[in-house]
Amino acid sequence: MAVAKRTFDVVVVGAGGSGMRAALQLAQAGLKVAVLSKVFPTRSHTVAAQGGIAASLGNVNEDNWHWHMYDTVKGSDYLGDQDAIEFMCRAAPEVVYELEHFGMPFDRLESGKIYQRPFGGHMQEYGKNPVQRACAAADRTGHAMLHTLYQQNVKANTNFFIEWMALDLIRDETGDVLGVTALEIETGEVMMFAARATLFATGGAGRIFHSSTNAFINTGDGLGMAARAGIPLEDMEFFQFHPTGVYGAGVLITEGVRGEGGYLVNRHGERFMPKYAPNAKDLASRDVVSRAMTIEINEGRGCGPHNDHVMLKLDHLGEEVIKQRLPGIREIALKFAHVDPAKSPIPVVPTAHYMMGGIPTNYHGQVVAPYKTGPDEVVNGLYAAGECACVSVHGANRLGCNSLLDLLVFGREAARQIIEDLKSNPHLKPLPPDAAERPLSRLSRLDSQKNGERVAEVGEAMRRTMQKHCGVFRFPDLLKEGVEEIVAVAERVAHTEIQDKSRVFNTARIEALELDNLIEVAKATMIAADARKESRGAHAREDYPGRDDENWLKHSLFFSEGNRLDYKPVRLKPLSVDSFPPKARVY
Ligand SMILES: Cc1cc2nc3c(=O)[nH]c(=O)nc-3n(C[C@H](O)[C@H](O)[C@H](O)COP(=O)(O)OP(=O)(O)OC[C@H]3O[C@@H](n4cnc5c(N)ncnc54)[C@H](O)[C@@H]3O)c2cc1C
Repeated sequence: MAVAKRTFDVVVVGAGGSGMRAALQLAQAGLKVAVLSKVFPTRSHTVAAQGGIAASLGNVNEDNWHWHMYDTVKGSDYLGDQDAIEFMCRAAPEVVYELEHFGMPFDRLESGKIYQRPFGGHMQEYGKNPVQRACAAADRTGHAMLHTLYQQNVKANTNFFIEWMALDLIRDETGDVLGVTALEIETGEVMMFAARATLFATGGAGRIFHSSTNAFINTGDGLGMAARAGIPLEDMEFFQFHPTGVYGAGVLITEGVRGEGGYLVNRHGERFMPKYAPNAKDLASRDVVSRAMTIEINEGRGCGPHNDHVMLKLDHLGEEVIKQRLPGIREIALKFAHVDPAKSPIPVVPTAHYMMGGIPTNYHGQVVAPYKTGPDEVVNGLYAAGECACVSVHGANRLGCNSLLDLLVFGREAARQIIEDLKSNPHLKPLPPDAAERPLSRLSRLDSQKNGERVAEVGEAMRRTMQKHCGVFRFPDLLKEGVEEIVAVAERVAHTEIQDKSRVFNTARIEALELDNLIEVAKATMIAADARKESRGAHAREDYPGRDDENWLKHSLFFSEGNRLDYKPVRLKPLSVDSFPPKARVY
């Protein structure tokens, strides 16, 4: 089948915060940029971010990037790469002011400066007292940010391909990346996007779990494409469970609620967090709070007829504060929990939220993988930024508000690096003759499969398996069974059938293609979790409750082919300051 081709300088897959920050920089540099997105750009999951962007502006109390860096290293449970963390925390104030100048409508203090609120794990003086570091636009920070970036991109003449789904990477026989193949959702047509640089900014994969705060489009497509093209996935065992998803619905209640003074209570009305984190209390790091909630529930102090959730209390903040600072939360509580938070507490449970792992990159956004000559080499032509990338600044556990920051810092930096790299790479190499073979054979399998299982059923089996076997606490037997089950589900994914074979706006076809990506992420997460025999950050094993720096202070790398794992060292040396050596993590 002949497949049409279009050529750009750069193709960016994803129009969330990271993709649009990068695209803006690239378009402003005069490059011909294509941005592909499965949905209208401003519907990307970044739009749902509520709480804020972390930056040590010090507008409310004293702050500096050294403290921010320390908190991020500690929050990562020492698995984060300290060169990348220094790079991010130092750049934070600059990218926030840049965003302000793009027109971002931040909340303001009386003085006119950007309003900042406290968030979990953000502290003064190397862990002493909570600090107000999260720059916010009410509880709709991501919404404001994404619209600001979109408007700037329109002004800069970025070419958007809306409702286009990237299917697979194009690599030649040397391993160089020469673009992607993509499918236009409206017509079902496949096209090749050839480019000298390809940037993945495809976001997270929360949809591998049954209960998740993520949008339905967060299916880990960038990771699936990378895995199928032989690129490993890093640190996939670390998946963050946000403490406060609305019980039964999964919708997120931002940590900003606790930042504004809300707190958690058990069935006896007892505020339990001081027991687990005497200093930071309800503003301890997310993994710590999620585990504390799970222990309360498991020990019979959960709320409701099934004792299976806890309550988030904020009525004492008063109706005024709730309406002004947390209007979206009020709406979510009313719609999804059927309670007015000014009068009653909100029922909440820990819910899958954020993927710390991803496509391995250095802090310039270049993908680093086994390649021509060595195990740890920059892959020509391929970059990744945002939640799909593992830089790694979040290590084993991300701090709140550090993701929006990550999008801005590494979206911008990846673009800077691309501009630099393209100077010495002025000509696009010819595409290999089989450039579109992989996606075409996936599509033709979907067309010809008979007597296969339905995509929805197999997807459900995957989500249930992940939820049961790879949750907040991980048990040896469940993990072992989980690996067997998820490998079996992967086998079923390869034989799914779609009843409706039409091409036009075919959601069944899209779901099947997404499941190919989800299953790569699910396999990586389960297999890496089973292998890591320690507890660190979001990965909490019942049989190995302690962190083991001697054997496990290292990043995992999962290779889809053969479901194989490898490891690489953590970069403990920052760029300019002294390293923060691993020590016990208490809040
Ligand atoms: C409810 C919620 C609240 C959050 N609140 C905060 C917060 O307050 N502060 C904070 O720092 N972080 C927060 N986070 C985390 C943060 O919002 C995300 O990590 C971040 O927005 C991800 O941005 P991204 O640019 O990586 O991807 P996304 O914003 O998820 O965008 C992904 C893009 O990729 C496109 N795409 C994906 N696959 C394909 C494909 N195959 N072909 C074409 N396009 C594709 C999508 O269409 C989309 O445009 C929150 C997350 C959630 C879910």
